[in-house]
Amino acid sequence: MTKTVLVLRFSAVGDVVLTAPAIAALREAWPDARIVYAIKERLAHLVEHNPNIDEVIALRDGEGPFSYASRLRAARPSILLDLHGKIRSRILRALLPGVPKVVWHKRDFRDTLPVKLALRPYRASMLFADRYHAAVEEVVGRPLPKGKLQYFLGPEDLAVADGALRKSGLDPGRPLLGISPGANWATKRWPAERFSGLARRALERGFQVAVQGSTREADLARTVVQHAPGAVDLSGKLDLRGLGGFIARCAAFAANDSGPMHMARALGVPTLAFFGSTDPSMFDFRGHEVLFAGVACAPCSFFGRRRCPRGHFRCMLDLTEDRAWGALEPLLSAGRRPLLSA
Ligand code: SF4
Repeated sequence: MTKTVLVLRFSAVGDVVLTAPAIAALREAWPDARIVYAIKERLAHLVEHNPNIDEVIALRDGEGPFSYASRLRAARPSILLDLHGKIRSRILRALLPGVPKVVWHKRDFRDTLPVKLALRPYRASMLFADRYHAAVEEVVGRPLPKGKLQYFLGPEDLAVADGALRKSGLDPGRPLLGISPGANWATKRWPAERFSGLARRALERGFQVAVQGSTREADLARTVVQHAPGAVDLSGKLDLRGLGGFIARCAAFAANDSGPMHMARALGVPTLAFFGSTDPSMFDFRGHEVLFAGVACAPCSFFGRRRCPRGHFRCMLDLTEDRAWGALEPLLSAGRRPLLSA
């Protein structure tokens, strides 16, 4: 009988994107299995075009656990793989009795306890994506080759992005630097004025520059373009389709520790990532660049903070614009052009 693996991962953008290698490894191990992915409806686009996923069951806004569990039960899962590991997935696990379950753990207790006790800064003992992979190995019951980090665009994504770029006066066929100055937590954000500096230098060298962000990040994007005449503000103008398409159009991408940064890496766009209070060793930056000041207090948190508890914010402020340009310029000069056409 065909196995059905029900994968739970409801959010957030980066965490969902980072499940792709584990799903690829599962597909490789069990080519005939039916892989069903449970995710919030507003993020479903992130996995809908992944060829390794057979079905997406989207959690509607406001839908209760009983209604959703009954829809998941209708998929007749033979095993449940919980890659979410939070209260929502715990409730759903309880509502799907009799289904064997494997639960992923985001962090190792040995990593987190000393940080919670303020004994030392956080250091991940393994890559974030490898933890997902280990859970898949537990499902399959044997060691597996690792899958590749990939993001799969939908058929309209490039056209949606190109429409937004053209409307802003940019040519999707010309070299473009993408900038994403946002992040959910203040201590994960490199100063927007410094992103402006990168934008100015790229513009001087003939690149187009577009700044991306959510509506809530509009102030940051505005700050970047205000100090970089010629850069274009796309904040609030791209949905998930447009975001993927836009990043795919970029020659290089500069971003904080955020969902768009992971999308860029998954799309194979050379990426410069800024890390302040969080730990870059959770991710694989081969082929990209990461800046981390390495101050003694960093990384001071798992997710980021509203403000620097020490008041100096050196983890980000020590990352100068010159140093950032030194890392970004070779990525831009490598001459990547969009590989896909609309
Ligand atoms: S400077 Fe140190 S304490 Fe302050 S936010 Fe950065 S890592 Fe945390």
